[in-house]
Amino acid sequence: MIGDSMLNSKALAALMFTSAYVIFSFVFSVLPASADVDWSLAPDPPERRTTHMGGANGVQSITFINPTNYPIVAVYNVQDKFLLESNEVTFYPSPVKVPAQTTILAASYLAKEGIKQTGIGFITATSFANNTSNIPLSPYIIPIKKEALVMQAPNKDHFKFWMQKLTSHKGIKKNAVDFDVPIGTAIYTMAAGKVVSVYEGSNFGCPGIECVPYGNQVEILHKDGSIGSYSHIRQHGVVVDLDDYVSAGQLIAYSGDTGGGGEPHLHVEVHAWQYDDEGSTHLSTLPLTFNDNDGKVLQISEGDYINASSTFGKLINLITAKR
Ligand SMILES: [Zn+2]
Repeated sequence: MIGDSMLNSKALAALMFTSAYVIFSFVFSVLPASADVDWSLAPDPPERRTTHMGGANGVQSITFINPTNYPIVAVYNVQDKFLLESNEVTFYPSPVKVPAQTTILAASYLAKEGIKQTGIGFITATSFANNTSNIPLSPYIIPIKKEALVMQAPNKDHFKFWMQKLTSHKGIKKNAVDFDVPIGTAIYTMAAGKVVSVYEGSNFGCPGIECVPYGNQVEILHKDGSIGSYSHIRQHGVVVDLDDYVSAGQLIAYSGDTGGGGEPHLHVEVHAWQYDDEGSTHLSTLPLTFNDNDGKVLQISEGDYINASSTFGKLINLITAKR
């Protein structure tokens, strides 16, 4: 079903001659157009979730290294501008499950010369959840305590003439939520768990997909096997350590604008591998509902103001509640 993960001569031949194209899932398919990025400022992506690329004579291979003790999931895509024609071979289509302490070759392609091969992929830690069709952890705790506009959420029907139309949460990211918060906003865990991924070394970001691998991030493995993910953290903005156990509502980080966002905000999601009716598995984000301060379950929509204290925020929440 899936070929040898080594890039051998057979694979190279396949790379040259195959006509079986692969349609990649563009997770961040519609982001605002980005200005020129000064790549001299970009830090090295961290090994624990990096895409390793290398090869000779224009052949690039995308390899994922998982040095951890839990499975991780790599999500990658190859943009047209990196490709010479469409000469790709995919050994493991995105998203790729990479078992613990394993290295796999995900794909190879013929690269255009003279283009810095960066921003192609990124990796997300996760694990197989047990029976995740019945995730028990929701409603979650709202990850911020100050008033904030919900910039992006699955419910898009809300009246929002003042908002920029954002559609970067597609495919497996469809249940992710973006909060409009200034740099330095305190971030709290949505649920208890173990810190399984910390990256805080980047001070780099831009509006485009090519900057996604440079986003700082903290990830928490929950007891049901799902992963809570908090993205665009400011440089050195994480206050917990890898392998720490954290409680629900614990301060873990301060927000920023690193990665592929273009403006300061907090991106949160809970993702897990789930089993579908046919018994196969797929990675997906889970719907997020929150407990509000009165203990009521809150279903948030784009354009809501959470933790609203201002008259404007309260008014918008009222309008939303009536819809
Ligand atoms: Zn987002």
